[in-house]
Amino acid sequence: MKKLKIKKKIKIVVLLMLLIAPTVSFGWGTTGHRVIGEVAQHHLSKKAKKELKKLIGMESLSLWANWADFIKSDTTHTWDHASKWHYVNIKGGLSKENFIAELQKQTGENLYTQIKALSIELKDKSLSIEKRQIALRFLIHFIGDLHQPLHVGREEDLGGNKIKVTWFDKEMNLHSLWDNTLVEFQNYSYTEYANSLDIANESDVKYWQDSSLEDWFYESYVLATKVYASVPADGKLGYKYNYIFQNDLNMQLLKGGIRLAKILNVALN
Ligand SMILES: [Zn+2]
Repeated sequence: MKKLKIKKKIKIVVLLMLLIAPTVSFGWGTTGHRVIGEVAQHHLSKKAKKELKKLIGMESLSLWANWADFIKSDTTHTWDHASKWHYVNIKGGLSKENFIAELQKQTGENLYTQIKALSIELKDKSLSIEKRQIALRFLIHFIGDLHQPLHVGREEDLGGNKIKVTWFDKEMNLHSLWDNTLVEFQNYSYTEYANSLDIANESDVKYWQDSSLEDWFYESYVLATKVYASVPADGKLGYKYNYIFQNDLNMQLLKGGIRLAKILNVALN
């Protein structure tokens, strides 16, 4: 009788764990972040390439693109304070002017404050190489996160983490669909994806790079609004959803890479 009770308890614990697990989500998955790193690599200035060599030798940007997610599993908890750096939550329905005002008045550390702070650290040659390497690894990742629209999503649903959807026959949440599933659905390796995306001409590159960091956040916010509005009542998504958002997805990955190059070209000048 007692044994049976324990078994039942274990069953409940396992069930609870299964329920909790899929609600935690990471940012573009490994492929998305690597695509952005690889695209950025193509658009680095000569000077930035030289400076980058001093920081990471021959290693690529894509190699470091997921470090900021991997450290979330560090059992020494050294980086626990950085988990809130991956996103910023802003309420929906704001005009551009109000959005920027809201973004700038958020209290505490977030994706926006940290991109600014880390860019300054990367640039500062009076800091140790180790400190600048860490700033670099975070920046490679965060310029990616900034272009995942649901990292600039609403607070009430935790950037789509609380919105349940069914992708073909698999249950997941809207945030993780955008982090991983939609990218993986394109069925490219990260280098294939980066190479097929990166056909931007010089004027596109200049246009995307010349806008402000606040503009980049606002673009993601506008896309997040479209993403929120495109979940049907039954939450069922598949081919049609991919067709609607494929171009947005590709553009965000491409712009993410091109703008990461801009951030690095400025900081490593
Ligand atoms: Zn992230």
